[in-house]
Amino acid sequence: MLESFRKPKYRDSRMDNPSEQRWAMRQLDMATPPPSVFSKAGIRHRLRDSYLTVRGSMASPPSKPFLHCLYLHSVYDDCRGSFRKMLSDLQTVGQFVDADSVLQVLNGDRPLDGPYFHISFDDGFDNNYRNAFPILEELGIKATFFVPSRLVGSTDSEFLAAWWTRGIDPLPTRMMSWEWLREMNAAGHGVGSHTRNHARLSDVSRSSTQLAEEVGGSKCEIEDKLGAACRFISWPYGTNSDMNERAFAEVESAGYDGCFSAVRGFVEPGRTSRFAIPRDQTESFWPLPHIRYFAFTGTATEGR
Ligand SMILES: [Zn+2]
Repeated sequence: MLESFRKPKYRDSRMDNPSEQRWAMRQLDMATPPPSVFSKAGIRHRLRDSYLTVRGSMASPPSKPFLHCLYLHSVYDDCRGSFRKMLSDLQTVGQFVDADSVLQVLNGDRPLDGPYFHISFDDGFDNNYRNAFPILEELGIKATFFVPSRLVGSTDSEFLAAWWTRGIDPLPTRMMSWEWLREMNAAGHGVGSHTRNHARLSDVSRSSTQLAEEVGGSKCEIEDKLGAACRFISWPYGTNSDMNERAFAEVESAGYDGCFSAVRGFVEPGRTSRFAIPRDQTESFWPLPHIRYFAFTGTATEGR
């Protein structure tokens, strides 16, 4: 996930216990203190907001055929409407395709003959199933859900609280279950790996055992639990510096067909590596002009 993760105002209705909610919001403030209005950070934040609103309101999709992969982390209970609106808006521009189609376009096995989007979710939070899944089904969109396999169905509150406090997810973390993932997989959505423990692969690559467990181990675990192939992985934190050649080699030798990053850019047939597929973050609580800005623009793919 990127550092640019914005602090939402939203709360999840599952947090119906007031003391849990107070504790949660206190933790959230500690994790991401809001910048003072007059501080440099506050001014920078407002300028960035205004820039994205203006540029996004004027943004139009590329005139040439394109394939742009977008990803989110959460769809909170009070963001169902904005998530539906975001997808409906993008559907007026282009067609959503699954991860296999992305691979076919990238390899030149399928022509890039129109505007296409792919959507995926990182981290495996429970709101992916509760809130995103029904809307994706309603709109006929097949997504890919990248999950840290050891954390699926986890109730390890200490680990999850620590994870959340580091700002991975701004609300108390609850994870999807294997049963839910099986249901979504049976409905045609992809389930991919996000390592076993949400590991930074550039760090764990110092240990070949740990690297194999995070990359190949998560693939085996997902295939075992789903009874279906796990063909794709997205690497946690997503930037080029969170990955290295050793980790790329491990991804390839583990048998993955494709690997998604969080590096901005469009998929470029013949140029984009299937082991460093670019994606742009677009959270459902962001204003629509901001989403349009990120969905319609993208820097050239960085080299891996
Ligand atoms: Zn992640």
